[in-house]
Order: sequence, then C-alpha cells, then structure tokens
Amino acid sequence: MTIYHNIAVNRPIEQLFSYAHASALAVGTRVVVPFHNTQEVGIVWQSDITPDIDIQKILPIQTVFDKEPPLPPEWIQLIEFAAKYYHYPVGASAFVALPTALRQAEPFRLPEPDAYFTLSDLGRQQALPRYPKQLALWNALFSGSLNKAAARQIHTEAHKYLQKWQELGYLKTTDKPQHVVFQQKINLNREQDTAVKTVLQQQNTFAPFLLWGITGSGKTEVYFEMMAEVIANGGQALFLVPEINLTAQLLERLKRRFPAVETTILHSGSAKMARCQDYFRAMSGQAKIVVGTRLAVFTPIQNLRLIVVDEEHDHSYKQDNELRYNARDLAVWRAKQANCPVILGSATPSLESYQAALNGRYTLLKLTQRAKAQARLPEITLIDVKRQKLDNGLSSNALKLLEENIKNDGLSLVYLNRRGFAPALFCGDCGYSFSCPNCSAKMVYHKYQRHLRCHHCDHKIAVPKSCPDCGNQDLTAIGIGTQRLEETLKKRFQSAHILRIDSDTLSRKDDWQKIRKAIENKEINIIIGTQMLAKGHDFEHLNLVIVVNADGSLYSADMRATEHLFAELMQVAGRAGRAERAGEVLIQTQLPHNPLFTHIQNHDWQSFADDELARRQTFAAPPTVYTAAFRADAVKLQDALLFLQNAVKQFVLPESVVLYGPAPQLMTRLSGRERVQLFLESKNRPVLHAAVTQFAQILEEIQTGDIRYAIDIDPYEC
Ligand SMILES: [Zn+2]
Ligand SMILES: [Zn+2]
Repeated sequence: MTIYHNIAVNRPIEQLFSYAHASALAVGTRVVVPFHNTQEVGIVWQSDITPDIDIQKILPIQTVFDKEPPLPPEWIQLIEFAAKYYHYPVGASAFVALPTALRQAEPFRLPEPDAYFTLSDLGRQQALPRYPKQLALWNALFSGSLNKAAARQIHTEAHKYLQKWQELGYLKTTDKPQHVVFQQKINLNREQDTAVKTVLQQQNTFAPFLLWGITGSGKTEVYFEMMAEVIANGGQALFLVPEINLTAQLLERLKRRFPAVETTILHSGSAKMARCQDYFRAMSGQAKIVVGTRLAVFTPIQNLRLIVVDEEHDHSYKQDNELRYNARDLAVWRAKQANCPVILGSATPSLESYQAALNGRYTLLKLTQRAKAQARLPEITLIDVKRQKLDNGLSSNALKLLEENIKNDGLSLVYLNRRGFAPALFCGDCGYSFSCPNCSAKMVYHKYQRHLRCHHCDHKIAVPKSCPDCGNQDLTAIGIGTQRLEETLKKRFQSAHILRIDSDTLSRKDDWQKIRKAIENKEINIIIGTQMLAKGHDFEHLNLVIVVNADGSLYSADMRATEHLFAELMQVAGRAGRAERAGEVLIQTQLPHNPLFTHIQNHDWQSFADDELARRQTFAAPPTVYTAAFRADAVKLQDALLFLQNAVKQFVLPESVVLYGPAPQLMTRLSGRERVQLFLESKNRPVLHAAVTQFAQILEEIQTGDIRYAIDIDPYEC
C-alpha cells in the first residue's frame, strides 16, 4: 500500500512537497527525502493526503526517524500561525524554530531514560551532612528525587556523593521522578500577594497579564510563587528572558528556589546535542521549568500551564532575520492555545502591552513599592551640560560625586552606551572624517587596539598616521566612548579601582563570573559600563550612577527612540540603591527641560506612557495603528528604489490602508548594500494582513537578479 504525505522542507518556498511511504506516518515525524538531486531533511506536515500531482512522479520517503517522538500537533499549529502572521514560508519557519541538531538529516539519539535517586529507609536514619552544599543535596534527596543532572545543579560534585551514598545503601533509585516544590516562607508584600493570587485564580484559562513593577519591587518572587503552584499541580512553566548570559543571578535564584525541580535552560550558547536533549525533556514533560531566550518560545511543552516573559519590553525578543517573529507576542498566542495564564513583566512595559492593558485585553497588575522596605528609590538629578566645560565628557558635579563616593567606599557606575575610545576620528585642517566604506556610518576609534572599526559590519583599518586628503598628521578624536572615559577616570583617580565592562572587554562567560565576584567583594570603586551591564544586574552596594550622555536618542528620527531612552534610563537608574544605602543618580543632558526627564525623576512610567501614547495617537504611529515594513536592498540604491516603486505601481491600495515610501532607510548603506523601505499601516489588522499578502505576491513576481527583500510585521525599526 502507498500512502502520500506532504512534507515541509527547509527552503524559502511557500510550498509543501508530496512523497510516498508504505504506511501512514504521524504528522510531526522527521524524515529524509530526495530533493533536486540531493537529500533533504523534512517534517511530515500532512499525512494520508490525496496528491494533486501525477502519482507516477511522486518519490518515496528515504528515511524515517522513527526513534524520535514526532513533533506534537500544537507545535505544527504554532508554526503555521507564525508563518502566516509573519509572512514567511512554512517549511523555512519550521526549521528556524527547531534546535540545530534537528535541522540536520541525521537521527537524534535520545539519551537513556534517567535514573532518579531518593533516600532509602537506611539513608533517612543517618545524621545530616555538615557542609551546606552537601546538606542541600541531602535535603533534596530527602524530600524528593533527583536525576544526575538535577543533582549537579545543586552541587557540582554531586556524582561523587551520589556514588558514595549509594555504596553505603543510603539511596534507592526510582524510574519516575517525584517533583517536590519546597514550601518556602516568603514574605510577599500586599501588592505581590495580590498579583500572585490574581494570576493563580485563572490557572486553567487563557489570561494575559501585564505586570508592571518598579525596579526592585520583587517581580521575580512573584513569578516564582506562581511557578511553584503550577508545578505542584503537575504543570510545566515556560520562563522567557531576553539574554541568557546576563541572567546568571536569576538562574542562581531559580536553583535556590527550586532545587528538586527539573529545569532546562535553552539558549543558543548551549552545545548542539545538549540543547536538543533539553528540547526533548521539555517536550516529554520531564523538565518542569523551561527557561530560555526568544527561540525557546517554540519549544514543545507537553503540559504548559504558565508562561512568564520577563523584561517584556526588551527588543531581543524580536528576531530580525529570516522568520521575523516577536517571542513576546507568540508567547501570548501559545498561552491562548494552551489555555493558561501568561505574565508579561517589566519596570517599563512596552507601549504595545500597555495599550492592550488599557483596552482590556490584558489585566494590569502593579508593584509600586520596593520589596525590601528599607530600600528607597534613588534620587535623580539632572545636570545641564550645555554651558559647562566638561573634562572628557564629565561635568564637575559628576567628578565631585565620584570622588566623594570613592572616599566613602561606595560603588559607582559611569554609564555610557558607546564602546571604543571615540566615535569618530577627524582632521581639524580640512574636516575629513573616516567613514566605513561599506556602511553609512563613521568608523569608531579604538585606541588600545590601534584601529578604526565599523560597529555595523566590523570592517577594520589601522589608525591612519595622517589625513588622506590633506596630509595633516594631527588627527583629532571627537566624542567620548567608554575607553576614553576609562582613561580619563584612571588619570584622575589614580588609587581607585576602575573597571570597564562592555562587549570589548567581556568576551567569555567566566570573565563575567570573576568580575562579578570582584565587584561583590567590594574590590572595585567605579564601573564604566554600556547597556550590556544595565540589563538585570544587581550590585547591592551600588549607590551612585552617572549617565554621561542621555541625549543621542532625543534627536533621533526613530519614533521609538524616546521609549527606548526612557526604558534605558529607568533601567540604569534602577541599579542604584537596592539595599540600605540610598542611591543617587546624575543624568548629564543638554535638554533638561524635555518632559521625559520629569517622568524619570518622578520614577513615573505610567505618566510617561500616557504622554507617549497620546503622541503616537497624534502621529497615527504604532501601537495605535498596525504596521508592516517591506525592506529591499541592492548594490545600487536606484535598483532597490525602483524595485519597490514598481511594486507600488501594480498594487491596489485598500481604502483603510496607508502607504509610506519607498524611501532610503535611516542607515542607508550597510555591509555594502543600499537599503530602502516602505510601510503599510492600518487600524484594521485583517485588512492590513490582506494588503501585505497582495504586496508580497507582487514582490515575488517582479524580483530579479541582485535584489533582496524582506517583510517585517510589527517592525521595531522605522
Ligand atoms: Zn585633512
Ligand atoms: Zn561598516
């Protein structure tokens, strides 16, 4: 008997391909099929179909990976939704969503089922171990069961003790895990308690929540309490975070709170095979907590009962190539599919989520107090630097405060979101400045590496000795980068310990662990850091933050620049004064009267968001309208422009859709290609969707040669 199947393959073509097999295969099974003289891995998308082509031409499926459990139907639905919503081919979308090991035409060998250890009756009669980590391991074995991986999370040397205790007869093995959620006495304040109870009341329904909590208000405890309850009831929780490397502290807290609960951490840094195993552990229901970055939103989770999206405003949730999805929005869709609550948490929620809360689609929960009663919000002062003479970017007030804080053994953060020594190198005689040959951008001067580097395409050249135009040998570095700040501060405060942390100094994860220890041990006086540091790190004794230059984004043409700046400044300011010591924040600006700063000084996200939403309404900008961007690039600007212009000529613009462009993008040239874009906007999402489909078809028909293009639904850049 021959059964026909439609197979999704990893090609950017809007099509499934039919293949034959002797029996019906489950939807979601991975297979290998012959494809244009080669072999291609595929996924059974539809089983037992009636082919619409000549069956003589249908080739057989070559290999079936029948040792692997098939991807579940909910996963297929999720991919179909994402592909349709983001206008990307379904096959290619499916392969974006899979871990690397499953994108290959090789079977994945599932690991042997785990043995779980728990204390035997003899073990239960023994005296408790003395050392804290051994004791933690013992306690976990006492109240539940652990496999080796879970034991290792508690104690890195766990295998030794497991072996020893097993030899002594203190342990027995079981094939089924018992997940034990320790009841911890956590003192939640009233707001935290209300938030937890409100969410848990809706445990078995689709219920989206926006959790707005000021920095230090204890959002994490709220997440953990909800997760504890869900896991105790046999469910699984998905916990999304923007960046894994910077959430070491969160992961440590997770381990402490849930030592005997199996947790997987999915992120692009984990080894290929390990990631795939974790994927299957989530899929089978074995791992109760699934933590991960944006890609983890596609992980099949058998018994999904709760989704948390932490720092929901963060742009890392948006993928900006291939399938341009937003994991935060897909998380809400998944919660609906699974009939469970989803919590989007932030100190500065996105305007999209805030609007959804205002119009009743999401329930707004507020945490307006710092969790530690003695911790106060930092005092924020603005320094008008328009008429001040600055020392390499630093005002006299800033320098004075830094000096005092060094004397008082405090920890200061000098914040500047710009790497390198100076953002440009310039000839004072003829005005020549060094631009990247591939991009519309200046080359950044990196003094210690002795090169100029483009931060967009990574093009590097040695620092020139003279001006290529006029031969002047006296080139000037203009503007301030973190290297220059470091040099200035080291000269000024020679006995102080000053540490610069940015992606140039911080390449490996171990570096970061070492640095964190040094800071926690109070070996450092001043940290110079970029945004990378502002995300999610708490140093309890940090009591002074200097924001060197807050104005860049206020001059930007990007509609979202103010929203970013607000979130960025609140995040940086929120680093200060986490513990007993009151914090102080100094913001240097040339525009102290910008209303944004008043909201920041008042720690008032909601007033800022209300103002900003009103402004967006006036300009009919997102989130008050829905947007789709079409971006095209070519070697010649004219070719890219003409491509979109020709499409516009053939396009029938629906009544309630507005078209902007085509026009060059803000950064027109990138990596040697000229980039243009146009936008479609509408207040009606289905109408916009139909218009996008129509426009996409035209583009597909007229695309030729060197032109590349992409569709971006709900884009961030404009
Ligand atoms: Zn010159
Ligand atoms: Zn470049």
